[in-house]
Amino acid sequence: MNTTRPTTTRAVHLASRPDGVPTQDNFRIEEISLPELSDGQILVANDVMSVDPYMRGRMNDVKSYVPPFQIDQPLDGGVVGTVIESRSEGVPEGSHVVHQLGWREHAVLNVDDARIIDTDIAPASAYLSVLGMTGLTAYAGLTRAAEMKAGDVVFVSGAAGAVGSMVGQLARLLGASRVIGSAGTDAKVARLRDLGFDAAFNYHDGPATKLLGQAAPDGIDVYYDNVGGDHLEAAIDHLNIDGRVAMCGAISQYNSVEPPCAPRNLALAIGKRLTLRGFVIAKYAEEVFPEFQQRMAEWLPADKIRWDETFRDGLDAAPQAFIDMLDGANTGKMLVRL
Ligand code: NDP
Repeated sequence: MNTTRPTTTRAVHLASRPDGVPTQDNFRIEEISLPELSDGQILVANDVMSVDPYMRGRMNDVKSYVPPFQIDQPLDGGVVGTVIESRSEGVPEGSHVVHQLGWREHAVLNVDDARIIDTDIAPASAYLSVLGMTGLTAYAGLTRAAEMKAGDVVFVSGAAGAVGSMVGQLARLLGASRVIGSAGTDAKVARLRDLGFDAAFNYHDGPATKLLGQAAPDGIDVYYDNVGGDHLEAAIDHLNIDGRVAMCGAISQYNSVEPPCAPRNLALAIGKRLTLRGFVIAKYAEEVFPEFQQRMAEWLPADKIRWDETFRDGLDAAPQAFIDMLDGANTGKMLVRL
């Protein structure tokens, strides 16, 4: 823990908006000041920050469910850190907290914007992955958006990533009869088998609809969509009557400057009576979090869930970690140690 009270810190700013795939030029690191604390505020030394696909959308100047990042302003996002100065009795110095002022080495914030985490249960980084937004997104997407039932055949794309690897394991724990995943490398496919997936394929090996058909001879009941495009088209081809899709993300389109050319088979949803439900985790968070915490308190100590983390080191490495995550360099959650 850094005990000297700094008066400035380094933060990653948005230097320019990307045109397609982001580059290092879109980011700039700058020194920013750290104000004196007011009552009810804390100063946090950030330890580990998250880079997430949704941040790519925030780099564009478009209206969305989260406001865009502003040029020449620091980025933000999930981060865990240690309180090094406090003007709140409830959050003393030395507390470990999770909050949203990531992409910087230190942050001053109101205690209401931080949540104390228990690092005896799991390492701090787990509150950015399995026990954080990632795990909650997987759980809420399966149980609420897809209304998964025991006995369902579940297919998840982006399956070796942070959310996807949770989805597959949670589906199994919730009684899926078969769990299928797709990922972008053979090593990731092998990892999915270790994690208990019944079948997995590398989507670079051929058309997604053909590979999914081989992996799901009896069709699928639930598709957890992290990718969009041809994966969604493949799922629609193979969904059974009354099948359900949790539309969580569409990462195949985030860097794209052209509109997607798939799915071309959406009309099949009529005859198959499919439900395609988009969701954002913020809408489910309050309702689902207590239930999620209760289930995880049972599953985690019993070693029923495993999670992978891919680490990069230092704030200077954060932009490249983000760029590489969008390109598939991570297995499990991509994180940056600060
Ligand atoms: P991941 O850990 O899954 O990392 C992103 C992964 O996407 C990469 O590792 C890469 O894996 C894969 N990928 C990149 N490009 C493509 C492509 N063209 N086709 C297929 N796969 C691709 O990220 P997260 O788990 O954090 O997020 C997964 C999804 O969930 C994203 O779409 C994200 O936007 C969404 N999400 C939605 C939320 C919501 O509230 N709706 C909340 C959180 C996340 P590979 O090597 O397999 O290609």
